[in-house]
Amino acid sequence: MEKPALQTAAAPPHLIAPIKRRYSITTMLTLTSLLVLLLLISMVAMMQSRLLHFQQDISDIATNAIPSVVHSSKVYSKINQLLYLSEAMGKAPSQAVRHNLYLDIQQNLQGLEQLTEDRQSVLYQEAQLVALTEELASLNELTSERLDLQQLVQARLVQVYQLYDQLQLTAKNEAAAKGSQTTGLLDVAEVVAQSGKAITINHLLMLRQLQQQVSAQLQHVALGTTPGAPGKTNQLLQQLKQLLLADDGVFPLRIKQLVVTGRANGRSNFVRSLVLDYARLAENRSYEVSGHVLADAELSNQQTRQYSQQILLVSALAILFLAAGIYLVHLRVVRRLEQLNTNVLKQMQGKLAAHQIYGNDEIAAIARSFQFFAATVKQQQKDLELLSYTDSLTGLANRRALELRLHEQLSQAQRQQWPLSLLMIDVDCFKAFNDHYGHQAGDETLQHIARLLEKGFNRAADVVARYGGEEFVVILPNTDKAGALILARQLQELVVQAKIAHEHNLAAPYVTVSIGVAALERAGSTDFDLILRQADNALYMAKDAGRNTVI
Ligand code: GH3
Ligand code: MG
Ligand code: MG
Repeated sequence: MEKPALQTAAAPPHLIAPIKRRYSITTMLTLTSLLVLLLLISMVAMMQSRLLHFQQDISDIATNAIPSVVHSSKVYSKINQLLYLSEAMGKAPSQAVRHNLYLDIQQNLQGLEQLTEDRQSVLYQEAQLVALTEELASLNELTSERLDLQQLVQARLVQVYQLYDQLQLTAKNEAAAKGSQTTGLLDVAEVVAQSGKAITINHLLMLRQLQQQVSAQLQHVALGTTPGAPGKTNQLLQQLKQLLLADDGVFPLRIKQLVVTGRANGRSNFVRSLVLDYARLAENRSYEVSGHVLADAELSNQQTRQYSQQILLVSALAILFLAAGIYLVHLRVVRRLEQLNTNVLKQMQGKLAAHQIYGNDEIAAIARSFQFFAATVKQQQKDLELLSYTDSLTGLANRRALELRLHEQLSQAQRQQWPLSLLMIDVDCFKAFNDHYGHQAGDETLQHIARLLEKGFNRAADVVARYGGEEFVVILPNTDKAGALILARQLQELVVQAKIAHEHNLAAPYVTVSIGVAALERAGSTDFDLILRQADNALYMAKDAGRNTVI
């Protein structure tokens, strides 16, 4: 015997369609993450390149600009020293001072030379330094010459004063010997005093005028002495003249000293301008180098501003994409999962979902699978329900279904004021049938009778059920006693006509049924037990009456 089973429907193709890659949530999330990652990487790369630029700028400043400024300040300090030293040497009061100052100058020059070499300065700078060295040597010589001359002039003047003292004494002695008055001594004193001034006059023209004046006065003094007397006084006077006016006398030496001093001053000024020139050159170099570095730094600064704007833009884009990604996840994942959850809950409560989930991604696939699952469960539920109200052997309604339908029909009969009849059918001597023909044949006979029942009661409202064992019940709504009896007899006849062999039937040599009929003219919902009991009683009576009978 074939048993009805729960049906599992094959999933419809649109439910199990593969997810298209370009719509999938995984693709969407991967693309968003990749985009954000790309933006972050480009941001890091930009920052890295900017840092390298910075490093270059700082290294430029450290290796070029700062050393150049330091070098320039060192040169400046040396130059200042040189200026002071060369001026001091030009005005040196003694040879010893000059000598020491010149030693310092040489040391200073060596220092400058060293600085020039260190910075790989231009050739012009080196040439400048060579010229400066030569000029300083020349200034040193001139200063030395000036000092020598100064010493000589002073020595001569000392001699002049000594000679004057001697002359004074001699003239007084001579005059005393002659018993006469000394003449011209005052003039000599005047000459000596004038000559003493020579050392304080720094103007060449004035010195020359003084020399002429002294020379004229000396002429006059000579005229004042006793003519033709080659006295000692006269001799001394001649010596005085020599000491003052000869080539190595006070005046020519002092004149020479002034000339040399002038030359030394000129040289000193030249040295000064050379030194300042050199300083300016060094300063220029420093400006140039610093200028380049500062220009580079300014450019780099501008680029940095641009880069930082770009980095800001990229960051903003990254944040925007991230926000868009989060919004998309919220829209396409979170909200649809929530919707799916709501749909599942509604479906479980047997309600219809307000919003279906469409699309071709993972969530839509889950939603479709769930729909399919829900439909399968619903179908199986229906199948189970059907099974629970069906008799598995005959396929007729079972006793449970019969009881339900009887209650329904009684209520309806009450509402419509219908009559209601009920047949209780029992196969005669069926135990004996089983014993003789076997249980399998018994089952087949029961199925055969079920088909006959279906055939005999084909009204839509009629309810045919297996009541249990070999007993069947038929509910006949809106059917009175007469109608029910006719139908019962028709069924009895149908079974007889089937001629199913039954050797041990007490009523006939084939299968027969006994039928108890109960009919209520005015059925009510409380008549459930009553009508069943009446039908059962009638059946009992039919059996008693010899079977194959309708009572
Ligand atoms: P009676 O004419 O008085 O009704 O006698 P009976 O033998 O039919 O009555 P009884 O109640 O003594 O026996 C009923 C028998 O029906 C017992 C059992 O062997 C048989 N039967 C009940 N249900 C089934 C079934 O599902 N299949 C088969 N093959 N036999 C059944
Ligand atoms: Mg029975
Ligand atoms: Mg029986």
